[in-house]
Amino acid sequence: MVEGMTLLEPTETRPTETATATHEHAWQTRSSHRTSTGVVRYVSCVSCGGNRIDVQQHADEPPAAVSRVVGGEDSGPAAT
Ligand SMILES: [Zn+2]
Repeated sequence: MVEGMTLLEPTETRPTETATATHEHAWQTRSSHRTSTGVVRYVSCVSCGGNRIDVQQHADEPPAAVSRVVGGEDSGPAAT
């Protein structure tokens, strides 16, 4: 079941059955607001439920992650 918006959806959202530890997160913007440094987006992965914060400094540039993925499949013991 897919809820919410489908905009900003990349062409490759289909989960691939690879043996890699991480999957391609399907980020969906939960909320966003403008700041002096750009647009802050709070996104969550519709696949694993992880959350992340992105900042898009310019409209012409893709958002950059400014936080680690919290929750979802990527959470757990630190791998460092
Ligand atoms: Zn994910």
